[in-house]
Amino acid sequence: MDKYKIVLVNSPNETNDRNSSNYACFPHIGIVQLATRMKRDFGDSIDIKILDGGISNTEYIERAIEAYNPNLVGISVLTPTYKEGLKIARKAKNVGAKVVLGDDHAGFFPDIILNKREYIDYVITNDVAEQPFTELLGALINNTGIEHTPSLAYRKGNAITRNPDKKYYLKEQNTSPDLELITNTLGIYWENYNNAFGHLHKKKIKPITLNYARGCENGLKRCTYCSISDLVINTGNPEEFWDTIRNYNEKYGINLFFEVYDSFTASPRYIDSLIKTIPGDLEKKINNKEIELMVYARSLGLTKKNNVEKLKKLGVTRVNIGLDAGDTEILEAQRKNKTTEETNIEAVKLLNQAGISVHGSYIAGGPGETEETLKKTVDAIEKILSEARFSAIEFSRFIPLPNSPAWDIMVEYENPKFYRDKKEIDEELQMLGIEITGQEREKIRNKYKDNDLLDIDELASDWFNHYTHISEEYALRQISKVDTLLDSHKVRTGKNVG
Ligand code: SF4
Repeated sequence: MDKYKIVLVNSPNETNDRNSSNYACFPHIGIVQLATRMKRDFGDSIDIKILDGGISNTEYIERAIEAYNPNLVGISVLTPTYKEGLKIARKAKNVGAKVVLGDDHAGFFPDIILNKREYIDYVITNDVAEQPFTELLGALINNTGIEHTPSLAYRKGNAITRNPDKKYYLKEQNTSPDLELITNTLGIYWENYNNAFGHLHKKKIKPITLNYARGCENGLKRCTYCSISDLVINTGNPEEFWDTIRNYNEKYGINLFFEVYDSFTASPRYIDSLIKTIPGDLEKKINNKEIELMVYARSLGLTKKNNVEKLKKLGVTRVNIGLDAGDTEILEAQRKNKTTEETNIEAVKLLNQAGISVHGSYIAGGPGETEETLKKTVDAIEKILSEARFSAIEFSRFIPLPNSPAWDIMVEYENPKFYRDKKEIDEELQMLGIEITGQEREKIRNKYKDNDLLDIDELASDWFNHYTHISEEYALRQISKVDTLLDSHKVRTGKNVG
């Protein structure tokens, strides 16, 4: 019997100059995990190809799909990669494959996508896709119907149907990705990493991504620009975390593990359980710097509960922090939730004292930004650069992405998700001196509502014109000034759109 052929794609960015500084240094581990689970459940009856847009491009992926002629193509799309994802989806349909979209952007607009894009068959509406996607595959292979596949949106007759979402706990289910599925590309990420960040280490680095926990302690409020689908804290099994590290280290010599947990400081209990379960052999390797970890964390969390020391114990040598602004008022306007300018400085210094380097990101154009507040941010970057060690600093313009408080302000004003009601938005805007007429608001809303394909540049420009006191051009000039400064300090930079 012919094997059922599947392609799993991480959609690429549209251009090469908008990437974050970590781009292409780490594999998209979500699709490797998915492939591992499918292989485990369906064995030799399936054949899977993994195509990561982080290290290829749309044309390459389209050609690979054409040559392989798959039965099913699953594409992971984020807002900035959605446009390319659609091109790939069209190609997949042209070669006769069923097409599934997943990941954050697909989950934001399942109905609109299925209504507008006839070449897409299914949308996975859960950001934890392992179970729903595998169940969908089973239903397609066995022809058993998809009515019971959880977290799935699809067409039924002329209507769009959405099967109920289910919550998946990482503790109960989080398949360890089998890197044999991507051995042919691991070396590409490693080379990219060493070219970009090799100077931070004393040895050749072999990096990989891990994901054993999700969520953020600021999840209830969430930062104004944060568009992550689900921020509820969901932690996995600490023993499995260490087993995977040991396995990858012994088998592939991997020595840098990027745990992409949204905020590592979200759960003090999880941090303690990881410390409690470090196996003796790995503790030794951590102490000898044979194994290093890299994480995201919040400044405020880092200044509490002796967290920096705990991170050091866990082998963390690099932390990514959204430092965002050099002005406490703008930090508050960005809903950083009690993170002040001083908190940021304290966190960076604590990390540096512990020998941990910082990957910081800043944003120009938060709600109510003025020339004066942006100057404070530029000054803060200049000052902290002379006092602390950074592995990278990204200074990007603000973009109001879907599923963020900024999206509520700009598009979902009448029915916000992250504000109590429109009155709360009005109060916040009033405090920031922002005025917008009902007519202007309606015009912007009409442009974006019912629209799944968003132009990032247009979003940014509408935001700057209506919700800040500066022009986008002014913000870009300040960003470019800082980029020059970073170059002179030999600090790597990049742009964040996610
Ligand atoms: S941007 Fe980061 S710190 Fe802010 S809510 Fe999202 S995950 Fe948490």
